[in-house]
Amino acid sequence: MPEPPARPIPPGLHLVSTPIGNLRDITLRALDTLRGADLIACEDTRVTRKLLTAYGIQGRLAAYHDHNAARAGPALIARLEAGEAVALVSDAGTPLISDPGFRLVGEAVARGIPVTALPGPSAPLAALVLSGLPTDRFHFAGFAPPRPAARRTFLRALADMDATLVLLESPRRLAAALADMNAVFGPRQAAVARELTKLHEEVVHGDLASLAAGYAGESPPRGEIVIVIGPPGMAEPAGDAEIDARLGEALATMSVRDAAALVAEATNAPRRRVYRRALALARPA
Ligand code: SAM
Repeated sequence: MPEPPARPIPPGLHLVSTPIGNLRDITLRALDTLRGADLIACEDTRVTRKLLTAYGIQGRLAAYHDHNAARAGPALIARLEAGEAVALVSDAGTPLISDPGFRLVGEAVARGIPVTALPGPSAPLAALVLSGLPTDRFHFAGFAPPRPAARRTFLRALADMDATLVLLESPRRLAAALADMNAVFGPRQAAVARELTKLHEEVVHGDLASLAAGYAGESPPRGEIVIVIGPPGMAEPAGDAEIDARLGEALATMSVRDAAALVAEATNAPRRRVYRRALALARPA
């Protein structure tokens, strides 16, 4: 397919999210920017070249990663100050999220260079929304330290946080990390999200004890992994006996609707299930 004519991209630093597995997960705006940027700064030029080739984009690439940032950063800033449009991508997902770039953005902001973000795929967010755990407050903790003692210290510092926790983990350390999470956090609901957006995407839900037991002794799973852990005190939904007892009391003074809403809230049970039980209890025998 012939490459569409490049549209001028405004000067400044453009933070472009790229697919985390499924190549089709890229926005039209991201493609426009990659096509029209004067320079694409990327972690690994081979990885980004593959993406560009898939979309018939030529693009001029420059490596920018943790090991060359001290040298490459000032060179990028000089180009930005000269009025060029520079796209920053990581190998996959949203740049700066457990990936290089925050110093570059800080430097650009300090110098009044325009910075814009082109949102798109990001493994931590995809895992969070698939986890079935509360999304109103979450804490992205990145990778836990690989060594057990440091990992437990790291986890203990997160234990009282009233938020869903999102952590990246290598498949090789998954079993050990889950065992430590179970030991430190106790019985919390969690999810292990693997190979998101890819052919073998999988999300395993359960409490930390059953997840830790499920992966213990197994050979490490293939692919990339995000662990999501529910907040402390996220009670399991109550059983029917408790729901009926509470409904019995509430129905003495309230409408079916109000009683169901109150009891659903108090028992963490789905509203529709509680409403059905309330209707049955309120029906005259
Ligand atoms: N900046 C990236 C993002 O926004 O998704 C994250 C970069 S971090 C260096 C890479 C880690 O993200 C992997 O080790 C894995 O924990 C997680 N990850 C990346 N792609 C994934 C996928 N398709 N499924 C599950 N986890 C993934």
